[in-house]
Amino acid sequence: FDDRDGWIWVDGDFVPWGDAKTHVLTHALHYGSSVFEGERMYGGEIFKLTPHSERLKRSANLLDFDLPYSVAEIDAACKATCEKMGLSDCYLRPVAFLGSESISVSAIHNKARVAIAVWDWPSYFDPETKAKGIRLEWSKWRRPDPATAPSAAKAAGLYMICTMSKTAAERRGYADAMMLDWRGYVAEATGANVFFVQDGVLHTPPVDAILDGITRQTIIEMAAAKGIEVIVRHIRPEELATFSECFLTGTAAEVTPVSEIGEYRFTPGALSLGIMEDYGRLVRRQA
Ligand code: PMP
Repeated sequence: FDDRDGWIWVDGDFVPWGDAKTHVLTHALHYGSSVFEGERMYGGEIFKLTPHSERLKRSANLLDFDLPYSVAEIDAACKATCEKMGLSDCYLRPVAFLGSESISVSAIHNKARVAIAVWDWPSYFDPETKAKGIRLEWSKWRRPDPATAPSAAKAAGLYMICTMSKTAAERRGYADAMMLDWRGYVAEATGANVFFVQDGVLHTPPVDAILDGITRQTIIEMAAAKGIEVIVRHIRPEELATFSECFLTGTAAEVTPVSEIGEYRFTPGALSLGIMEDYGRLVRRQA
């Protein structure tokens, strides 16, 4: 992915894509002192840009470092990177991490660096299987408790769990994996939150051990506007037998129906597909 043409915004300047490099003794590479965002631009407009920039700053603060830019400056840099790349429909990946000033475990002497890369990425899951619903296996890894790791941060360190889960799932022919949290409640997929349908009501886990997804919030608001009840509660895995539909939500995944999680089966129905279409209209400002 490092041999593309184009430009990446690095610490305030545009650098040719292939030259946007960091030293092997970068603190973040050894100790996971890195946070990032995933955003999408639709028709020239970045969806929920400021909430994403705010979450980037908040994630860094949760890891006890600050960014040398304000939210408004990050917003502007995101827009400028899309413009520089000539893209109006794309995925954005801002990343903030500690540099190579010191290799000590302590981060007291390391400077925060920020980079923003954008690329064309139309679909996270294969569009054909999406409407039928994707297949997930249970991950053997769990989301840690907030006393063990800053689980509200979109921190690279927490993605080790997601990477191991998703890689194992793909090796076995699944599209993704569903993780439980440390207590054994249903948590989230490796890059998306989860919703279930039961008698026309949506059920989704609370954000006490998972990422507070911006898409998840959008879907909760959208459901309220449509008069669909949303119950935010802990869900035990065996309860999946009582749900008729299931879908994932995330910036990259958008709204993706699910047909299978481990031993449980779902059929994408009117509610999931309706929300998927409404979300598609909302992000393209056609709602
Ligand atoms: N959970 C995880 C683990 C994720 O990586 C993502 C994607 N950022 C989400 C949930 C969904 O978050 P959002 O809707 O803000 O993209």
